[in-house]
Amino acid sequence: MGVFNHPSFDDHERVLFCNDSATGLASIIAIHSTALGPSAGGCRQWAYADEDAALTDVLRLSQGMSYKNAMAELPLGGGKAVIIKHPNFVGSDTLYARFGEFVDSLGGDYITAEDMGMSEAIMQMIGSKTSYVSGLPTKGNSAGGDPSPKTALGIYAGIQTAIEFRTGQRGLSGLRVAVQGVGNVGYNLCKLLHADGAKLLVADIDETCVARAVSEFDATAVEPDEILKSDADVLAPCAMGAILSDESIPELRVDIVAGGANNQLAGSGDGQRLYDAGILYAPDFVINAGGIINVSCEYRGGFTGQDVDEKVLAIGPRLRNIFERSARDDVPTNRIAVAEARRLIGRD
Ligand code: NAD
Repeated sequence: MGVFNHPSFDDHERVLFCNDSATGLASIIAIHSTALGPSAGGCRQWAYADEDAALTDVLRLSQGMSYKNAMAELPLGGGKAVIIKHPNFVGSDTLYARFGEFVDSLGGDYITAEDMGMSEAIMQMIGSKTSYVSGLPTKGNSAGGDPSPKTALGIYAGIQTAIEFRTGQRGLSGLRVAVQGVGNVGYNLCKLLHADGAKLLVADIDETCVARAVSEFDATAVEPDEILKSDADVLAPCAMGAILSDESIPELRVDIVAGGANNQLAGSGDGQRLYDAGILYAPDFVINAGGIINVSCEYRGGFTGQDVDEKVLAIGPRLRNIFERSARDDVPTNRIAVAEARRLIGRD
């Protein structure tokens, strides 16, 4: 499958295939739009089934970053990178440094940071070859570091908003939240939900992640292939995308879907499907912007962790506005958010 005729191609400005046989690096960087500034978005490291799966992911994720950055009112465009974990993959410092050289070759049109499978330590290896990197360890009270706690804070604020919009209840005491994926984002989200009195159902394909959530937050472990069918108030997808589909939506037993995973809707009709099922959906690229807000503040400099929190908590009122417009106009929340984002980047 080519790029220009790929179903997920959306007039992307640039797609760079990065190969380095000496280190085993196979990576794709996609820049969707630089209309609002240099493109920014995390790098995902994943064992893709094949090259087309990686291309699909990076095309969709970079488009989502354009939407996310625009809706979060950041002076950034949308970009994303994937590193393909092939069977002989070894995540060496030289491989990440080589990836840093590829990022650097784009001259600042793409700024990288953490996404699934990445860490602050890896960002430092990438940073040995480029300054176009964020998500590096913080110094003092300045903004920066692993963005996932800030992503989780924004999701938490979004869940609170959704609950209040739906039921009038403030806070999460006694409510049941099913969390799919308890890695960096899911774990930090569970921490906030647990402190607010929510009962947690958690699933992960990594048993150590599940055990940690069970022991620290008194969570109930659920099998990964059962979590989407949980009887709960809220489903918070915090693993892979495309999990809300014509197959999974009829089986959902929640009132609200609000989580951190990117590209949760498998197809364009799935937002309507959720709406028709009476499920309130928090558009992923609006609710999960906390991390990129952190990245942006770190990269631009001059912001503290408190400044970041203030900006992240604006996700709550932003979502409320979308929920209200959805109810008023009888249009699914995802369509309202996508239309607004495309208008902001000049693609309507
Ligand atoms: P992570 O790799 O730290 O955690 C993801 C977890 O999901 C892992 O523990 C993994 O084992 C688990 N998982 C994978 N497939 C699963 C399945 N089928 N069922 C259950 N668990 C499964 O990644 P992360 O940084 O926490 O990111 C999670 C999601 O949030 C991704 O979609 C990512 O793109 C999105 N996101 C992350 C950030 C961030 O700040 N890290 C920001 C915005 C969006």
